[in-house]
Amino acid sequence: MTSIVINNLHKSFGTKTVLDHVGLEVEDGEFICLLGPSGCGKSTLLRSIAGLESPEGGTIYLGDDAVFDDKAGINKTPEQRKLGMVFQSFALWPHKSVFENVAYPLKRAKVSKSEIRERVREALIMVDLWEHRDAYPGTLSGGQQQRVALARAVVPRPRLLLLDEPLSSLDTNLRAQMRREIRRIQQHLGATAVYVTHDKEDAGGLADRVLVLQDGKIVQQGAPRDVFVAPKTAFVAEFVGFDN
Ligand code: ADP
Ligand code: MG
Repeated sequence: MTSIVINNLHKSFGTKTVLDHVGLEVEDGEFICLLGPSGCGKSTLLRSIAGLESPEGGTIYLGDDAVFDDKAGINKTPEQRKLGMVFQSFALWPHKSVFENVAYPLKRAKVSKSEIRERVREALIMVDLWEHRDAYPGTLSGGQQQRVALARAVVPRPRLLLLDEPLSSLDTNLRAQMRREIRRIQQHLGATAVYVTHDKEDAGGLADRVLVLQDGKIVQQGAPRDVFVAPKTAFVAEFVGFDN
C-alpha cells in the first residue's frame, strides 16, 4: 500500500519556480528524508502535503484519499488530512502546561476527557516526559520542548508524520539522541514519515530513502548509503560530499 502519491506538483512564487513538476511515491511505514540546501523547496513540498500551502497544479493522494487535485478542484484542509506535523520552532503554547499542549489536538477533535488523559499519558510516557506534565514549556530544555512537540504531533495517532528540520536548533549530542527517539516513535506508531533537512547526518541516520532536492526537483533518490557513496551529479556530490 502506498501512503503518499504525488504527481506533477508545481508551484512558483512570482517568477521563481519552487516546485518543478515533482513526482513522489512513499510506501506505508517508510521513513523518507527530503535533503537539500536552503531554498530548494523542501518546506514548500512538505507544507503542500500538509495542506498549509496551495500548489498551482498536480495531485496529492494520501492513502486512497485525493487531498489535492487542481483539475478536480480538491484541496482538503490540514485537519482533514489527518497528519501530525513537527516544526523547527517547536511552536508550543507558552501559557499552557506540557499536558495541555499535548492534549490540545484531542480537545479540538472533541475526544472525551478520560480518553484524552489516557492518550496524553501514553504519548508523554513515550517521550519520557510524563513527570513534567505540569511544567510550562519555558522551564524545559530545547530537547525536552522538542519532545513535547513530538508528543503533540503523535497523540492523534496520525498515519503520516511530517517533520520540518525539527532538530536544527539542538546541539550535536542531543540531535543523535533525538534521531533515535524519532525513529522509535515512528516505528511504534507504524506511521509513514517525511522528514525535511539540509543536514546529511540527519538523513543518513534516519532515512530508509533519501531524496535530494535541487531547485524544486528531485535529482537523486535511494538508500542513504547509495546516494552518499555514488552521487549522480556534481551538485549531489558537492552537497552530500564527505569533505564539506
Ligand atoms: P527550503 O525549505 O528548502 O529552504 P522553501 O520551500 O522554504 O525552501 O523555499 C523555496 C523558495 O521559495 C525560496 O527561494 C523561498 O525564498 C521561496 N519562498 C518560500 N515561501 C515563499 C513565500 N511565501 N513567498 C515568496 N517566496 C517564498
Ligand atoms: Mg525549509
